[in-house]
Amino acid sequence: MIEAVDLTRSYQLEGVSVEALRGVNLTIGPGEFAAIVGPSGSGKSTLMHLLGCLDRPTSGSLRIDGVEVAGLNDTQMAELRNRTIGFVFQSFHLLARTSALENVALPLVYRGISRNERIKRAKAALEAVGLAHRLDHRPSQMSGGEQQRVAIARALVGEPAVLLADEPTGNLDTRNGAEVMRILDGLDCTRIVVTHEPEVAAHAVRQIHVRDGLIELDTAT
Ligand code: ADP
Ligand code: ADP
Repeated sequence: MIEAVDLTRSYQLEGVSVEALRGVNLTIGPGEFAAIVGPSGSGKSTLMHLLGCLDRPTSGSLRIDGVEVAGLNDTQMAELRNRTIGFVFQSFHLLARTSALENVALPLVYRGISRNERIKRAKAALEAVGLAHRLDHRPSQMSGGEQQRVAIARALVGEPAVLLADEPTGNLDTRNGAEVMRILDGLDCTRIVVTHEPEVAAHAVRQIHVRDGLIELDTAT
């Protein structure tokens, strides 16, 4: 499903090379639920961006769904990303003037799915996160927890193989954070969550500790 071999990523900063990832080896199978944890600056975001096909490795191999990411051009990378990955971020990134239903239906536009079918699937995705009663609400009319559940529905509406969640509870109180994590607990897809919060990481079956650009501990190995 996801296979990284000797993955590195360096940034050039004012002529100096910063090695954000220094040789990551990682295999994550279908349906696994993994948490990536580690101190600030350890490389978690860099790793997430690579796993999400938002960025390319400097060296090494990354295969997602059998496709080698390193060799793809921008269009191919976007195609793989749209087909395979759903994203959830700390700040919910919903369109402000748009209803929950339209926010969730939007990713399906790029797949050439008919409007009726988009609405049907978006409704089902919102029902699955307990928001059947919020279809016509705009983000400003919803709580933070509800907005994040809309974002989860949007991430899942295209039935991605992999859900990447970057600090998904970072802007939520404990109760809403727990609610969001319970939703992730119940999913069948591969889930990878980056978090600073131990109680969030504890929802994942597998813990991957990143430090100084390397995996320091992986409870699956
Ligand atoms: P984390 O998500 O664990 O906080 P990051 O992946 O954001 O870690 O950062 C890892 C390292 O790479 C840090 O030293 C950071 O300063 C550096 N870094 C991240 N993004 C960039 C960038 N765009 N340009 C230069 N350095 C970066
Ligand atoms: P913050 O809360 O600090 O704004 P987020 O966790 O929301 O950070 O976003 C993390 C990173 O992902 C940012 O670099 C942001 O630009 C990027 N990002 C946010 N939303 C999307 C999206 N829908 N698609 C791709 N990248 C995104």
